[in-house]
Amino acid sequence: MTYDYIIIGSGIAGLYCALLAKEHGTVLMLTKEGVDDCNTRYAQGGIAAAVGAGDSPELHMQDTLAAGAGLCEPYAVDILTREAADRIHDLIRYGVPFDTLYGEIALAREGAHSANRVLHAGGDATGKHIELTLAGLARMSRITVMEHCLVTEISAHDNTVAGVCALDCRTGLCQEYEGRVVVLATGGAGRLFRYTTNPEVAIGDGVALAFRAGAHVTDMEFFQFHPTALRLPGAPSFLISEAVRGEGGILRNIHGEAFMGQYHPQGDLAPRDVVARGMVEEMRRTRADHLLLDVTHFPPDQMATRFPSIYGFCLEHGLDVTRSPIPVAPAAHYMMGGVKTNTWGETNIRGLFACGEVASVGVHGANRLASNSLLETLVFGKRVVERALAGGEAPIPEPVTIEETQCHLPNRSPGKHPAATFTGLQDLMWSKAGILRDGPGLDQAASVLATWQQTLPEPQDRSSYELHNLVLVGRLLTEGALLREESRGAHFRSDFPQTSPRWKRRLVFVPS
Ligand SMILES: Cc1cc2nc3c(=O)[nH]c(=O)nc-3n(C[C@H](O)[C@H](O)[C@H](O)COP(=O)(O)OP(=O)(O)OC[C@H]3O[C@@H](n4cnc5c(N)ncnc54)[C@H](O)[C@@H]3O)c2cc1C
Repeated sequence: MTYDYIIIGSGIAGLYCALLAKEHGTVLMLTKEGVDDCNTRYAQGGIAAAVGAGDSPELHMQDTLAAGAGLCEPYAVDILTREAADRIHDLIRYGVPFDTLYGEIALAREGAHSANRVLHAGGDATGKHIELTLAGLARMSRITVMEHCLVTEISAHDNTVAGVCALDCRTGLCQEYEGRVVVLATGGAGRLFRYTTNPEVAIGDGVALAFRAGAHVTDMEFFQFHPTALRLPGAPSFLISEAVRGEGGILRNIHGEAFMGQYHPQGDLAPRDVVARGMVEEMRRTRADHLLLDVTHFPPDQMATRFPSIYGFCLEHGLDVTRSPIPVAPAAHYMMGGVKTNTWGETNIRGLFACGEVASVGVHGANRLASNSLLETLVFGKRVVERALAGGEAPIPEPVTIEETQCHLPNRSPGKHPAATFTGLQDLMWSKAGILRDGPGLDQAASVLATWQQTLPEPQDRSSYELHNLVLVGRLLTEGALLREESRGAHFRSDFPQTSPRWKRRLVFVPS
């Protein structure tokens, strides 16, 4: 079967691209579970855009560059922040019901933003509203949507994309689809780690598929850990938004003591990576596997009205947050790196585009500014479709200011290790390549992962394909983290705790 556009993934990036592309040709959207199974649906805080009085794209750009710790590509950030308002208007036109205050769009402030610029919907249910709105439009359109179809391979000949192979997870049959344009919109890889805010689909498939097809992958050592995920026995991991601390929530240790002031002058509102590391240290010091986020001093209705999803989820699992503090601990949250693209979403393979969390266009650098990720999918998604329409012209040269070092995955001889399993891999990544890293731990993890890559049997079903992908993505992250002998943004090496000017460069993995 042949389509003009094949789009892999049905989060905000895939849906938005599909809705634009359907005006120009036939569109096939493949997604490995139901349409709504994606990171997008869980986004709470909102989407950033400089649309408020006193704000400007320039200020938004400055905040983004500061969060990125020297590794953002300014040209890409300029596009992100300048095109933000137009893309928000697209969402409004599509019908996303952003919250309003006195008839104006309500704008919240989040950590490291110098202005109120975060639009939200349904209080803390922004992602759900965006996902449901766009998915509803896609279902009513001429887009062919195939659920429970796991893309297992991208085919490319002469460095030009030809199509994809997909496994129908319900019948077990594989099918090939041909396409002039393939857009990877497969999201992140939080499932690399034992603790994560991401749903089960977040395996990093797109990075593995693209790398195997010959695409370049960059910045994988930068993975953001969110400080406050629910750690309640019997309850799944669930994000407790930073905005809860923004509104006055206090982190306490298990003895009830507020502690973040000892780790950073901004206390509970220090940058995400600083809070996560402070929490790890405090858990170690108090020999506890969690800390407490206290909102019991909030006015009685505040949690239910401002954070209805968090309030409702905790209550469903037996916790009334207005009476008892919330048990929390850090968890893997956002993949800053991914398939390397220019600002038109183009990879180094002609016709293969990447957009959203799977892509690395250079706007996040070493650390993502909160609420820039939903925005990124729209700004660069629009450009993907514009560029795809141009059809096969040579890539447009762009100003690149951050130096790049190209590298390959090293050959490592296989060692004796227990067989690969999901939980074994997630524990390994959490303990050796997680919030605190060092050379010996990373080296150990890299050698286990290399052994697994060489010894895993051929994949046959969804879970074996996903395990293969996790191993490859884990290798790209771990080898990058081992090479980067410094600490910067979300990447912290206890054996190299300083940021080094020598490392103001992006590591780009090139398939051998
Ligand atoms: C709990 C949580 C809260 C967040 N809060 C915010 C926030 O407030 N603001 C913000 O800006 N960002 C937030 N983020 C990040 C943001 O939600 C994501 O970066 C963004 O939604 C990614 O969109 P996407 O379309 O790229 O990927 P996703 O929404 O994850 O969609 C990926 C899609 O690809 C499919 N897929 C994957 N692999 C395959 C395959 N092999 N074959 C077929 N289909 C495949 C998946 O099933 C899924 O449909 C949050 C993330 C989480 C997890």
